[in-house]
Amino acid sequence: MFKPPGDCPVCGEFVPKQAKACPGCGADAKSGWQEDDAHDGLDLPDAEFDYNAFVAEEFGGNPTRKTNLHPVWWITAVVLIVLGMIAFLLGR
Ligand SMILES: [Zn+2]
Repeated sequence: MFKPPGDCPVCGEFVPKQAKACPGCGADAKSGWQEDDAHDGLDLPDAEFDYNAFVAEEFGGNPTRKTNLHPVWWITAVVLIVLGMIAFLLGR
């Protein structure tokens, strides 16, 4: 049986010594530190909020722009391709 302080067995969040419940997922000693029991009668969107906060922190800002390439790189790529084609055509 898990006892604070230590890492939460459900979500891995550090649980301080005086804590009665995990600050990350809300699991506590009464629920046996199991996620399913922890959410009984506790309808808070903590997990989703923590995930978004984690992503934002991990990638340093807006996670939705992570995969978007900046337009200047597209322009650079197109210019390089065009220059390559010109060089190829002139080189023949
Ligand atoms: Zn937890």
